[in-house]
Amino acid sequence: MAERSAWRTAAQKRWPKAAWVTGDGPIAVVAPCRETTVTLWKTRGEAEKGKARIDRGGCGGMCNPARHQIVELSGADDE
Ligand SMILES: [Zn+2]
Repeated sequence: MAERSAWRTAAQKRWPKAAWVTGDGPIAVVAPCRETTVTLWKTRGEAEKGKARIDRGGCGGMCNPARHQIVELSGADDE
């Protein structure tokens, strides 16, 4: 049985239309481009590196890097 991450569950609740949620941790990099994809990271620094990578390389399909954002699942909901 696969281990289920509480962060992934939280991310899937928050972005129910996400094509996929991957990684693990309280910091989410959200790419709502062609499809919404969510990558979870343990620290903000890792999340920023992950975001920089998809900003450069694209998240797949019709990518607009300006739409990529970092969201803290554990913090206040200020989006
Ligand atoms: Zn994108």
